[in-house]
Amino acid sequence: MSMQGQPLLVTSLIDHAAREHASREIVSRWADGSVTRSTWGEVGKDARRFAAAMTKLGIAKGDRIATLAMNHGHHLVSWYGSAGLGGVLHTVNPRLFDEQLVYIINHAADRVLLFDAMFLPIVERLRDQLPTVEHFILFDAPAQGDYKSYRELIGAEDGRFQWVDLDERDPVGLCYTSGTTGNPKGVLYEHRSNVIHAITEIQPDVFDMSNRSVVLPIVPMFHANSWGIPFAAATVGAKLVFSASNDAQVLCDLIHNEGVTHSAGVPTVWIAMFAHMDKTGIGYGKLARVIIGGSACPRAMIERFMKDDIEVAHAWGMTETSPIGTMGKRPWNWDAMSFDEKVDNVAKQGCPPFGVELRIVDDEDQILPRDGETSGRLQIRGPWIIQRYYRADEDAADEDGWFDTGDVALIHPDGVMQITDRAKDVIKSGGEWISSIELENAALGAPGVQEAAAVGVYHPKWDERPVLLVVKKPGADVSEASITAYLGDKIAKWWLPDEVIFVDALPHTATGKLLKRQLREDYKDYRLKSLAAA
Ligand code: AMP
Repeated sequence: MSMQGQPLLVTSLIDHAAREHASREIVSRWADGSVTRSTWGEVGKDARRFAAAMTKLGIAKGDRIATLAMNHGHHLVSWYGSAGLGGVLHTVNPRLFDEQLVYIINHAADRVLLFDAMFLPIVERLRDQLPTVEHFILFDAPAQGDYKSYRELIGAEDGRFQWVDLDERDPVGLCYTSGTTGNPKGVLYEHRSNVIHAITEIQPDVFDMSNRSVVLPIVPMFHANSWGIPFAAATVGAKLVFSASNDAQVLCDLIHNEGVTHSAGVPTVWIAMFAHMDKTGIGYGKLARVIIGGSACPRAMIERFMKDDIEVAHAWGMTETSPIGTMGKRPWNWDAMSFDEKVDNVAKQGCPPFGVELRIVDDEDQILPRDGETSGRLQIRGPWIIQRYYRADEDAADEDGWFDTGDVALIHPDGVMQITDRAKDVIKSGGEWISSIELENAALGAPGVQEAAAVGVYHPKWDERPVLLVVKKPGADVSEASITAYLGDKIAKWWLPDEVIFVDALPHTATGKLLKRQLREDYKDYRLKSLAAA
């Protein structure tokens, strides 16, 4: 062996940040409005305290530690502390509805649940259905009843905990993603995949992060690891600014007060932020780079950022891809491009960084040309792309590593990928999934409904909202109100269709399945009545 082979560990990220960037700040703006400051040095020490406290509670290598929490410094400490004791940090999305929360916590067999006080009602409601959880710990409030306190637990430790022995292929994180139907599926991240992803993410043509960067991850830590930002920031010692609230005023104030240079989030958050900026005249401060992902960034939003001289770029990816799959980058001839050409470029989803490969295939799995015209199912492979879902019996990728994303795309000759449609039957509203199939199945139970199809239609704030197309049973007395009332206690409130449209018939494939592609096409330009009224 001619070179050293230190394993690529998440603990090496925090050790590096704590040693080399000890005084660089980590700022938390809490739900109660208070702001606290820590540093990479303190996070490193607190992570060791956390690992020691968990070990005293009997938590050991391989155990799952769940969090139900917004973005803040304690949450960050739990990520690194859990990694150091060999734990698997499972970020639970509090926006899932009760059955899904119960399912994923039981499926992961989480032994600990750390949560923010604002999620106490969820914990109270569900705790009897979570038999594997032995310790409930409040992140941001004193102990109460049998709920322990994070601050008290780590306050009792001295920070001298030695990280356990780890292999770079050991699991370190777990995030569930809700699919088209059935139960959510777990994506189990490894130390190695997280570290390679972090090193990739800081690159100039990816997030472009350095020691001088001040990064506000608006994307929650329970969404694909906040797109990996808390790991990437550690490699360069970027300052992190966390907010437990996504209120536009809070975010705009933080951007100003903390000198934020980079932000990352779904497009939805910027609608309210633009409105706030227009109302108050507050500008962008030092903000230079806005990364938009999770859904396509509307063209008008891209134009506004560009006119305001803010560098805006698309990130495309999935929970299954850690999540960076492609990133919008400025090509070498950017300066020679017209404004419209630049907008065209930014509106596409971008190029894969080194490590990731993309291809598009047709329905027979034949590889399609990268001609910028032919679209097909987008497939991806690389060292931070999923091999197999957590506790699944089969691989999610084929024998060559190709994972089918469920997105439909074309690839331009210059390597730029452009999403054109979705093969998976889901609606993405404000960055969260709504399963069309589950919505349809629920609607089929409503009296008088013969057939139902849910399609996502454009909404300026939420990107997509569901519309339910219904064929009535002959002679049935059924109305939009009766269907909505029926669905009221069957699905989460934010899943309720914005409109129910009665149709005479729905299109089908030869095998009798709903022809969703055609319905999506037919309703592509549909304007919701609620918007017409606004
Ligand atoms: P999730 O696993 O929840 O992060 O969702 C991943 C999916 O979100 C992708 O498969 C796409 O359908 C969609 N998506 C993510 N980023 C983008 C983007 N930049 N443009 C369009 N769709 C996106």
